[in-house]
Amino acid sequence: MLTYEMKMQGTPSQLRKLDSAIRTGRFVRNSIIRAWMDREIKSRNDAYKYCAKLAHNIEFPWAKQLNSMSRQAHAERAWAAIERFYKNCKAKVVGKKGYPKFKKYQVRASVEYKTSGWKLSEDRRYLTFTDGFQAGTFKLWGSRDLHFYQLKQIKRVRVIRKHDGYYAQFLIDHTREEDKNLTGTQVGIDLGLNHFYTNSAGEKVDNPRFLRKGERKIKKLQRRLSRTQKGSQNRSKARNRLGRAYLKVSRRRNDWACKLAQRVIQSHDLVAIENLKVRNMIKNHKLAKSIADAAWYKFREWLEYFGSIYGVPVVAVEPAYTSQNCSNCGEIVVKTLSTRTHKCPHCGYSADRDKNAAINILKSALKQLSTTLGHRESNASGENDLCLNGEIHKSKPTRKKRKLSQ
Ligand SMILES: [Zn+2]
Repeated sequence: MLTYEMKMQGTPSQLRKLDSAIRTGRFVRNSIIRAWMDREIKSRNDAYKYCAKLAHNIEFPWAKQLNSMSRQAHAERAWAAIERFYKNCKAKVVGKKGYPKFKKYQVRASVEYKTSGWKLSEDRRYLTFTDGFQAGTFKLWGSRDLHFYQLKQIKRVRVIRKHDGYYAQFLIDHTREEDKNLTGTQVGIDLGLNHFYTNSAGEKVDNPRFLRKGERKIKKLQRRLSRTQKGSQNRSKARNRLGRAYLKVSRRRNDWACKLAQRVIQSHDLVAIENLKVRNMIKNHKLAKSIADAAWYKFREWLEYFGSIYGVPVVAVEPAYTSQNCSNCGEIVVKTLSTRTHKCPHCGYSADRDKNAAINILKSALKQLSTTLGHRESNASGENDLCLNGEIHKSKPTRKKRKLSQ
């Protein structure tokens, strides 16, 4: 699935109609959550049926105005939230299990259409909405060419309201595959705060400077926002400025992470990375940390995306002990965060702390891969008559040698 995004241009009154569509999408989602809480809905199918019920309810005339498949799309969103909660309960997740919440008004919000309720013009530069809100025709701005794809490949159209305008996202059913030559190299990647990452070959990539700059700007705008009076015109202006600053940082970050990830995938045959816990990341309230975390998260998403396109496995490993173990002999060498070099008293190996961690990440990824693949193999054949006589043991001396050493 590919997603292309284009900015929409329309008159203020058209945009107000899009707002109504977005509000109605949210209304459908929230109504279904409510009905689920009241035990009126017990399955996805019930949720679909409830959509039709909403549309026929004269108390909510707007529900009928939204395209019927769009109503279903929002029912699916609601059901996805409910399912996520069920899954967490089943898995006995500790702490919060994500009990579905009602969505409140937010600037960043969207309404989703499936294959009806909209129409692209012949030259594919104009998008027209044909449902009850009658938002009309919008000019599309963007660098992507929709001509390359068949109309039936467009499975969904999303209208997203952001701080700097309204965007149309097209979800296109297309599997992308790229050829890649074997490079003969595998890489482990350690994500850090001092550098964006260090790989197992010892190469470092620094955090881009625009993240720092964006952070300073956001801090300034946050202070300005807090000085304005609640409900005032100035406050909404300040909030908009802050929202735009966030958007700018996130766009540049996304662009940067995308390019970096593509380079990494193109120049290796296997990529090993730490399994970051998103849950822990969100807990962090420090701005600099949260900005860096978001960059890592994006980077990893792009790695996985390009990995599937170029046929490069991206293996995530649990980050436990990756920085403490010696990558050469496996002994634990305890160090604090401020110790920047790894010096092993057991085998004498010494390396940059992050490089050592990156090698450990690569090693445990390979181990993880070999055990999962090995299980599948032995299950398939059912029997194993490998004889280990031919194996050479480096660690244990043979009987003859032992005799000699005595
Ligand atoms: Zn060692």
